[in-house]
Amino acid sequence: MENPRLKAVVGLAERKALKTIENKGPFSEKYGVNTFNDEMMRKYLPKQAYDKLRATIDTGESLDPDLADSVAHGIKEWALSKGATHFSHWFQPMTELTAEKHDAFIRHIDKDKVIERFSGRELAQGEPDASSFPSGGLRATFEARGYTIWDPGTPSFIIESPNGTTLCIPSVFISYSGESLDKKAPLLRSGKIIEKAAIRVLGLFGNKSKRVKTTLGAEQEYFLIDRSLYNLRPDLVLTGRTLFGARPPKGQQLEDHYFGSIKERVLSYMMEVEDELIRLGIPVKTRHNEVAPNQFEIAPIFEDSSIASDHNQIAMEVMRKVATKHGLVLLLHEKPFAGINGSGKHNNWSMVDEFGNNLLEPSQTPHENLQFLVCLLAVVRALKRYGHILRASVASAGNDHRLGANEAPPAIMSVFLGTGIMDVLDTIENDTSVSKSKSSVIDLGLENLPKIAKDTTDRNRTSPFAFTGNKFEFRAVGSSASCSTPNLVINVMVAESLDTLANRIEAKMREGSDLKKAVLSILRETITEVRPVIFNGDNYSSDWHKEADKRGLYNDRNTPAALKHIVGKDSIDLFTKYKVFTEAELHSRYHIHTEAYVKTVDIEAQLVREMALNTIIPTAITYAGSFADGLAKLAALKGVNAKALEEQTDLVNKLIVGIAGIKKEVEKLETELDAVRALENEQTKAESLCNKVIPIMSKVREHADILELMVDDSLWPLPKYREMLFLL
Ligand code: ADP
Ligand code: MG
Repeated sequence: MENPRLKAVVGLAERKALKTIENKGPFSEKYGVNTFNDEMMRKYLPKQAYDKLRATIDTGESLDPDLADSVAHGIKEWALSKGATHFSHWFQPMTELTAEKHDAFIRHIDKDKVIERFSGRELAQGEPDASSFPSGGLRATFEARGYTIWDPGTPSFIIESPNGTTLCIPSVFISYSGESLDKKAPLLRSGKIIEKAAIRVLGLFGNKSKRVKTTLGAEQEYFLIDRSLYNLRPDLVLTGRTLFGARPPKGQQLEDHYFGSIKERVLSYMMEVEDELIRLGIPVKTRHNEVAPNQFEIAPIFEDSSIASDHNQIAMEVMRKVATKHGLVLLLHEKPFAGINGSGKHNNWSMVDEFGNNLLEPSQTPHENLQFLVCLLAVVRALKRYGHILRASVASAGNDHRLGANEAPPAIMSVFLGTGIMDVLDTIENDTSVSKSKSSVIDLGLENLPKIAKDTTDRNRTSPFAFTGNKFEFRAVGSSASCSTPNLVINVMVAESLDTLANRIEAKMREGSDLKKAVLSILRETITEVRPVIFNGDNYSSDWHKEADKRGLYNDRNTPAALKHIVGKDSIDLFTKYKVFTEAELHSRYHIHTEAYVKTVDIEAQLVREMALNTIIPTAITYAGSFADGLAKLAALKGVNAKALEEQTDLVNKLIVGIAGIKKEVEKLETELDAVRALENEQTKAESLCNKVIPIMSKVREHADILELMVDDSLWPLPKYREMLFLL
């Protein structure tokens, strides 16, 4: 029988870049046409309803229930004009995915007649059965009801598919008793918390802004692979990553992929993705090849954090769907290929006031720089104080392969500030009133206030949390994760820091200092306090691990260790103080993430066993047998060099040793898995999987990968790394 792998490889020659976009108009003409945006609100809503909805979106005031019917009617009319037959509340349950349940607009007006109707109640609230979503113990199975509540902050949108369209209504998801069952509600709560704290700090400096929003630009990394190869890899299909696979002679060592010219088939895919996202009002701006072969990046222009998080979820869905159309598969796993860079999501975060001023933008005006420095140090202090909780917010089985591998930020949460900012901080801390510092970017001469020029120092790409001139880039987020959780943690921890600094400054002023003196004194104190979390060197070096240990920084290398902090005292104190999570909600998150980890690793372990026994050993045996047959035939040949021939049995022995090695490790794996499953406690289960099962899985793989390099290429059934990574 023909080897399906080789058949798939040959078939790839026929693949072409697809032309899928009919109307190639400029983006400016298509932007947001599939959203119920301001223009459509004006067109489809009566003036009064429009004004109210606008105020609800802009200031968060609640929508008058009397107007809900007229808003619903307007949205429905717009949706019908786009060909929609159904509507769906669209939300982020506590998986990393989104959920939707579609209902047709139809209502009976007669026994045999229906019309399209959509009520204010249907718009405002849905009641999906919540029992099949993870709740971490928040919802008893007898009380299955959950409610989705419309969040007007993100515009409703239309999802198109070949046979029709559906109206999606961004929503939050809560239980009967009001606890959040999703990722969005806590993010929205955290936005209010940081807004209040930031307004308080701005107030000290005379800034009258009544609103502060956080901004997010999420750069998304991903791999693409041809579907015919993907289908032949059970590990990719079931776990999103390769559990086996020998390293190819060429990986990423030539450094020839990053920013390289984009293959036509991929570009065609990217263009369709962008076209769809632009029509959904998602401002995608950047596309390029990433470091690893067949790895790419898409990045939008930043937006309000909660909208940007929703948009990133939509983007991942669209990318997945469009890939299928192009005969491709989107891999969002954090580490699909061992030994090759993994994928992350660079979470660019900042704060902006009502007047559009970025609070993390240094200015040439010394007075404003005091405000900038307070905001900047509030973030650094937050990381010092709550880095372990932020680390926990990005912990997952997939991300464990990435954090700490030598191409991604380590699990140690430290901050990079760059030499420009460091000079300013040093000068303030030492109270040196030099007129010009060595880098000439700071000037403390004028009334002792800092003047800061735009930082031109090199970017540090190894830091998990880097200040990049006017925003922080948090690089530890996994590529498949929702941005909501890390962003809500950043929001709350920074809010707590802003409040703390405001308290300290106000206390100083009560003692009689003027504002400038009080701020400089608190800055000085804070700089000393946060020093240990600042690291401007190479985060990948082993020296840093030792140094971080000395500085007492957390280094939770794996998910089970990291997740514990969610229910630790720091976390409970922080989140309950600000009412972003109740203790019960924190426990539910801890349980859900721990359970997800346990299930993920268990599935991987089962599949390692299955692939080893059903695919790898049989292939190696077949090859060893045919090799032995060949040797026997050769031995019968007259005049054959018997000694040289005898040496060839060595290869057969190596194959047998490899097979025996796999078998032995698989037996250990089975015993260990049984032992884990017998455990009661989820935390102990997770730790056993992490510390005992995963190392055995690696051992099985080691043997299998050696066999892959020995067995006749035409027999090996699993697509090889060189094929998955270089053919498209
Ligand atoms: P890089 O960091 O790769 O050099 P950019 O500086 O262009 O790239 O920014 C990367 C991302 O950061 C983009 O999504 C961009 O919109 C976003 N970004 C820029 N400014 C801000 C900001 N003030 N707040 C949040 N995100 C921002
Ligand atoms: Mg970046």
